[in-house]
Amino acid sequence: MAELDQLLYDKSVDCPVCNKEFTTKKVRMSRLKLIKRDEDLLSYYEGVNPLIYQIFVCPYCGYAASESRFDSISNKDKKIILDNITAKWKKRSYGDIRSDEDAIITYKLAFYVGQLLDYAKIELGSLTLSIAWLYRIVGDKEEENRFLSTTKELYEFSYYNESLVGSNMDEIRLAYLLGEINRRIGKKEEALKWFNGVLSNPHIKSNPMIEKLAREQWRLTRDG
Ligand SMILES: [Zn+2]
Repeated sequence: MAELDQLLYDKSVDCPVCNKEFTTKKVRMSRLKLIKRDEDLLSYYEGVNPLIYQIFVCPYCGYAASESRFDSISNKDKKIILDNITAKWKKRSYGDIRSDEDAIITYKLAFYVGQLLDYAKIELGSLTLSIAWLYRIVGDKEEENRFLSTTKELYEFSYYNESLVGSNMDEIRLAYLLGEINRRIGKKEEALKWFNGVLSNPHIKSNPMIEKLAREQWRLTRDG
């Protein structure tokens, strides 16, 4: 535990919905050592996975969101949270050390908030992908696949209908992830189609990591 304590610190956060202050744990990224990365880009670290602490949850009103989007909420959306979440919220805190299961709950809360506030599908998909990853970490294959399938639907909608400007995703990475997610849920033909799209993208040379992964996973899918 001492080691985990050194990797985490307390951050004070002002809730933009109820205006109360709470503390939440954050990970000292500079102290983290990458152990490995799965082909759908889930990273594993020694000691703690920062994925577990990415969602801030206000213990007083139940508002939950990733750190980067926590503060950007309009007055209209605050009212939606107060009416739909706070009204039913039983005060509880996720501000201390979190289990993997706690982390899953925080992402599900953030996903619920995202649905209520009509987030872009790319953002909703990134939340469900994190939930799938956490289920992989705890070894629940069935729930992992369920959330990978949801991510596939959201990401596909996003690919064809949304601008990725302002998201931390680009077209090549999104197409690659769609290939790998389809492969993982057993949709071989769709996976090959996405990987082919990635490899024939005129800008693929600008992303050698994704190019290498797409080649390897295309081969794995074809031979599998
Ligand atoms: Zn609050």
